[in-house]
Amino acid sequence: MIEPTGVAADAATILFNLPDYHVISTSITAGRRQVIVETDELPGCPSCGVIASRRKERRLQRLRDIPVAGPVDVLWSKYRWYCEEPACDRLSFFESTPQVPRRSRSTSRLRDQLVDAVIRSGRPVSETAAGFAVSWWMVRAAVTEACLLKLPDVDKLSPRMLGIDEHRFRSVRYFQDPATKAWTRFEPWMTTIVDLDTGQVLGVVDGRDHKGVGEWLFARPLDWRLAVQVVAIDPSAAFRKALRMWLPRTAVAVDHFHLISLANQAMTETRQNLSQQVKGRRGRAIDKAWAHRMLLLRGGDTLSWRAALRLEEVFAVDDPTGTLRAVWKVKEQLRVLLRTGSLDDAAAAKTKLEELVKAAARPETNRLYRTVCRWWKEIEVLIITGATTGKVEANNTAIKNIKRTARGYRNAANYKSVILLRSAVRTAA
Ligand SMILES: [Zn+2]
Repeated sequence: MIEPTGVAADAATILFNLPDYHVISTSITAGRRQVIVETDELPGCPSCGVIASRRKERRLQRLRDIPVAGPVDVLWSKYRWYCEEPACDRLSFFESTPQVPRRSRSTSRLRDQLVDAVIRSGRPVSETAAGFAVSWWMVRAAVTEACLLKLPDVDKLSPRMLGIDEHRFRSVRYFQDPATKAWTRFEPWMTTIVDLDTGQVLGVVDGRDHKGVGEWLFARPLDWRLAVQVVAIDPSAAFRKALRMWLPRTAVAVDHFHLISLANQAMTETRQNLSQQVKGRRGRAIDKAWAHRMLLLRGGDTLSWRAALRLEEVFAVDDPTGTLRAVWKVKEQLRVLLRTGSLDDAAAAKTKLEELVKAAARPETNRLYRTVCRWWKEIEVLIITGATTGKVEANNTAIKNIKRTARGYRNAANYKSVILLRSAVRTAA
């Protein structure tokens, strides 16, 4: 880019490279480098906009800035100017620049780099603060400011498919009531609402009951709500209740992943209960079913021939009653069912599932089948639309990484802002 050059900039200004400023002096005092800068342009009055030309007094303002080849103390030789417009009420004003707006004590290039480090690079706030030699609060404030400026207005977006899923954002805590000495378990949960087309996190709400999600949905404009066609959720009655209330015309799909994990849970419980019933103890390494417990949970169609052989061995050696195999077949049939492409195929697969459940005759699979029946309408929506909360899960993984790099968040609001901002940055990228 060719720019008209007024005054050739000196070496110090070129190296320091702070837009709209030039370096007027540099020094080293007690081992620390000090740079004094001044603005390039005559400033306009903040009230009337007329360019000033007469300086009043000046003062030195300390600026927080990025390290330039190491830490630097930056002082701004900042002038007060007279407003020379007769019609203006303001007599004088202090200058400001895009890099250092009014009342700011840091450069915007510093704030940008702090936000970048936390949001784009995923560095913890405390580590970023130490790296830039600023306070933890300053980094947090920069992130909060970026949230206000950069987060898109959710109501201006028009998502077609939503995904709703919960995650626990910190470990379970126990609180003791000082009077009764009774302990209560406190589980800090958060629910994320994601646009399934773009994968962007639209909202993060407290808790995992219908109240939080319901209030969030209620806050959206009516046409926003009417434009949502499908919502994917995990089999949670609470979310379904919120959706019936606030998105009554929207089809609800139950998530594929959560159904499979219910089937896997039934598989594991059966294995554990069988071990207790047949051997009167928990599974051990000498039991084939225990040694290959993960193999039982893997998709039957994804097994290598070697793995399939090992699975056959498990059934042959450790399953004299054939119950484990029967339950395994139920689990596999549910996977077949969820992969079907039409409602007819799904109905046929469900009939077969029912037969297999009856053949297995286990409480674990009976319960699984009851869940499938209770959520049948939502499963049909899943089969037609293919709307799964996969993108929410991907976000939850990203969210867990946010939490992991920051060694846990104590403040839920801080946690939410980093989640929303990082997701918005990723979606835009
Ligand atoms: Zn003025």
